[in-house]
Amino acid sequence: TDLATAPANSPSDTDITDWDRDHNLHPWATTDSWRTDDYMRINTAKGIYVWDSTGKKFIDGPGGMWCVQIGYGRQDMADAIAKQVMEMPYASPWSSTSEPAAILARKIAEMTPGDLDTVFFTTGGSTAVDTALRTVQFYNNRLGRPEKKLIMAREKGYHGSTYLASSVTGKERFNTKYDNASDLVRFLPDVNPYGRPEGTTLDQWCDQKVADMEALIEREGADNIGAFIAEPILCSGGVIVPPPGYHKRTLDLCRKHDILYISDEVVTGFGRLGHWFASEEVFDIVPDMITCAKGLTSGYLPLGACIMSNALMKRMEDPTGEEVFYNGYTYTGHPVSCAAALKNIEIMEDEDILGHVQRVTPHFQDRLKAIGEKFDIVGDVRGMGLLGCIECRPDLPQDTFDAHLKFGAKLDMACEEMGLMLRPFGNMAVFSPPLIISKEEIDDMFDIMEAGLEKLSAEYNG
Ligand code: PMP
Repeated sequence: TDLATAPANSPSDTDITDWDRDHNLHPWATTDSWRTDDYMRINTAKGIYVWDSTGKKFIDGPGGMWCVQIGYGRQDMADAIAKQVMEMPYASPWSSTSEPAAILARKIAEMTPGDLDTVFFTTGGSTAVDTALRTVQFYNNRLGRPEKKLIMAREKGYHGSTYLASSVTGKERFNTKYDNASDLVRFLPDVNPYGRPEGTTLDQWCDQKVADMEALIEREGADNIGAFIAEPILCSGGVIVPPPGYHKRTLDLCRKHDILYISDEVVTGFGRLGHWFASEEVFDIVPDMITCAKGLTSGYLPLGACIMSNALMKRMEDPTGEEVFYNGYTYTGHPVSCAAALKNIEIMEDEDILGHVQRVTPHFQDRLKAIGEKFDIVGDVRGMGLLGCIECRPDLPQDTFDAHLKFGAKLDMACEEMGLMLRPFGNMAVFSPPLIISKEEIDDMFDIMEAGLEKLSAEYNG
């Protein structure tokens, strides 16, 4: 390509748009155009707000991608990152360690439930999940039962974009041209209480979901199943909260059949539900592995982790020392990312962000519930902690409103005009604002959402 004429310095706004469109392939790009020039360009960010290239201000409803816990523009984060860069920006995790990695691993071990005390650092959520799934293989091969490898995963679950992580992802599974490792995975049906058969109580729904898992174990044979992977709340699937008791009962079932339980806390970890981790504090389970990322650094730098139990580590031990845990990344335990995570956690502790989330959650969830009651075009609202989802009524006629495909995008567009970004997913819009959001800012957010829904309702009725 002839790029010689492109100006190298001081690009104009138009240059940036052109260069981004022509050379920067975005994740989840649609293939009809591949390149679009309507990506919003975020230039600055502070607290819960971001500003686009025209200077327009938005509340960041999705909190980046469910990750900016402490908000944007923290000088103390910048200082901690800069300090580590100047002191020692990189250490090979194969032959050395760094202070930030060791301190952070110890800190995370303190925060996790039960005996989950061993931390394997990764580059993000997908690689944390990949590590957990490869550990299931390593573990069962070590124990001399190589057939115990199938992974139970769930419809609408999201676990990432690496080969294995995308293979256990139940969302958009059928709408992909990738060849996933489907021989390694078995999916359990949707756990969403919304849309369950009429007259079915939540308890009965839970019974059915547990029975689904029992049937799968029966069908495949426990000797062939290595693990179950589950987000405590299926976030990208539309903030689906399984029925009460589900987590505990599925864990018990896994224990009964010597199946490892991987709790994917990439979104729910680090305060989203008012606790460091949701597994034990919210759902009363102590899994074998927890995966996390996102909120670990509040999105300031990439970092993830797969946290493993002592019991699991013990069973993987090889007294001869001949086995090698062949899994690792150049950036495992990256000192600068770990320093960012340590500062992020310190800020969350010093400013009692978990307490704050617990205090504002009832107001956030009340306002969300009110939307469900107020708008006829809304089929369901659901959430927990500072996570929320608005789903369009499924029976709205497709032809007049195109709601099934476009509701999320339409609501997002209406809200953006008024200064709020949401995350559209087909017929849903989800939001997970920075955890520092105040009660007043929560009101600002929901006021805009209500105004957006009024606009959409008028469109529908008109
Ligand atoms: N697991 C869950 C539950 C997620 O929500 C995500 C990302 N949205 C991932 C894994 C993958 O994380 P990453 O994009 O950092 O690879």
